[in-house]
Amino acid sequence: MSIEVHGIRKTFGRFVALDAISLEFPTGELIALLGPSGCGKTTLLRIIAGLEFADVGRVLFDGEDAAQRDVRERQVGFVFQHYALFRHMSVFENVAFGLRVKPRKQRPPESFIKRRVYELLDLVQLGWLAHRYPAQLSGGQRQRIALARALAVEPRVLLLDEPFGSLDAKVRKELRQWLRRLHDELHITSIFVTHDQDEAIEVADRVVLMNKGRVEQTGPTQDVYEHPATAFAYSFLGAVNRFPGRVDGGSLRVGDATVPLAECPGVGGGEEVIAFARPHELDIVVNGDAGEGVPASVRRIFISGAVARVELTGDPPSGEAAEPRRFEVEITRERLGQLNLQPGQAVRLTSSRLRVFPVDRQS
Ligand code: ATP
Repeated sequence: MSIEVHGIRKTFGRFVALDAISLEFPTGELIALLGPSGCGKTTLLRIIAGLEFADVGRVLFDGEDAAQRDVRERQVGFVFQHYALFRHMSVFENVAFGLRVKPRKQRPPESFIKRRVYELLDLVQLGWLAHRYPAQLSGGQRQRIALARALAVEPRVLLLDEPFGSLDAKVRKELRQWLRRLHDELHITSIFVTHDQDEAIEVADRVVLMNKGRVEQTGPTQDVYEHPATAFAYSFLGAVNRFPGRVDGGSLRVGDATVPLAECPGVGGGEEVIAFARPHELDIVVNGDAGEGVPASVRRIFISGAVARVELTGDPPSGEAAEPRRFEVEITRERLGQLNLQPGQAVRLTSSRLRVFPVDRQS
């Protein structure tokens, strides 16, 4: 089932939680609603579910106004971060619940319920836990059972709100890979709320990046990650180094230093900008020419697998009694060997891949 939302606005008192949200969720895709805490992800998910109502705007399911359908008729399955299973029911009964509470005429026979519950438990690979109670499960197992329960009534849409949010990092990683495989098997249109960009990148076909109640950027996950459209998107989608400066000819001027710019579309000469580079997009120059590259001092070097991470500090922004700037550079171990860096060493940072955004257009 496809979902569309058109011109959604939602306020709580005077606070605008969502504004002018229009999105399409194509049939069978797994889409992440991604954004910082409080940006409106859960509110949007609840409006799609029919648990909350927009002040303005429409939600369409397969082109039909969802307001016409009762929550139960929307055929939506939910999994929430703290979606407690029924404590007094076994795992089997929890999964069977949605089938047992159907109106008498639609309720399947007991033999069907039994077969369906075991199929679903096999799908989430927990058939052996059917007779346990929720208190006897790990957090990860509980979330998988919650998903099996959501799937029992054959939803046409699956809405997941930070389903793995309360789990530790390792279990979380396993479960998101598992969710992706499950989605590839079932192809149910799914919307997945997360504030974790790695989770979105690993799991989703598309992302909707939200900020302060608005859509900042949307598109296939890899596209959004590789081509962030705004300073906010760039900063939110991964580790960044920031260089506030001014465009001067084909270069960025940062204090007395310059860094060449490959391109800076839409930015005029002399304009105040902020330039960004990811840690792997910066290079460290030892014994560079004065003025070329931003001066910095090596603080710490640590090696993790095939890469070395170098932490550096730079001069504080001019005119401010601020903390020194911090930078992080990721280089290969081989490059680290060539540079022979030592803590305290003065170096210069340069990059051929700076992304430049005008200061006044930042969000
Ligand atoms: P998080 O990642 O922290 O869960 P979120 O992006 O899901 O955040 P929402 O829960 O959608 O954010 O909330 C969006 C904004 O609306 C927040 O500022 C929140 O405080 C506010 N808000 C949400 N529900 C209500 C409510 N019932 N009454 C008042 N304000 C609310």
